[in-house]
Amino acid sequence: MNPSLSTHPSLRKKIAAGNWKMNTTRDTAIELAQSIVDGYQSAGERLPEVILAVPSPFLDAVSKVIAGHEHIHLAAPDLHPEEKGAYTGEISGPMLKSVGCSHVLVGHSERRNYAKETNALLARKLEAALNHGLIPVYCFGETLEERESGATFDVISRQLEEAAFSLSITQFSQLILAYEPVWAIGTGKTASPAQAEEVHAFVRGLINRAYSPTMAFQTSILYGGSVTAANAEFLFACPNIDGGLVGGASLKAGEFLEIVGAFL
Ligand code: PEP
Repeated sequence: MNPSLSTHPSLRKKIAAGNWKMNTTRDTAIELAQSIVDGYQSAGERLPEVILAVPSPFLDAVSKVIAGHEHIHLAAPDLHPEEKGAYTGEISGPMLKSVGCSHVLVGHSERRNYAKETNALLARKLEAALNHGLIPVYCFGETLEERESGATFDVISRQLEEAAFSLSITQFSQLILAYEPVWAIGTGKTASPAQAEEVHAFVRGLINRAYSPTMAFQTSILYGGSVTAANAEFLFACPNIDGGLVGGASLKAGEFLEIVGAFL
């Protein structure tokens, strides 16, 4: 391939990921997934890859709804680093694979915050996901306090260096990254395209230093934090933003499908 083409941003995977968090019941999860499948199919060509991060009890049911749709993928919201054993209530990589997951969120800020997940633990989770054939969507981002004190780039560097950059180049090449400023998640306060783009470009610089220029160009980096149908197209138009990780707005099929269409 022509080297300039191999590093062209348009060749990176475009992704719209929905994070349903602790919402839906079995029936409403099936209904939401079905509406997304139906809407995606009728929306035409050149659509991004879609990832649905679904509450664990409904993964199996949603997996059946999306079966056979090659551009719609199933993600778990989390996994345990061990393969099996005496970890009551936890869910392992092999369990997730057995119900049809291809992806898994790792390091969502709600888990960093409420479950006190550290970068060291997340490094183990990334390793475990990859060992079990799951593609991790690794989430990172600064709090409001960290942004206001000027620590954004230090925090993000640590979140990547201490959890993701210990992976081999082959492992890292499978990762999807999601920059999610904590102050923008579920608050209705979206980062401006310029704020998000600045961090995404910075992250590509870190990947370049840790791995290679090619890896920096080929890694898909999503933005998450109050993405809506109204702001998605402005965010997705930024050269270093390859899509979105969407919480609240992914719970309404119509709005999520508009976000999916915001790449066109
Ligand atoms: C998220 O859950 O990752 C998220 C970004 O949520 P919201 O879109 O609701 O801010």
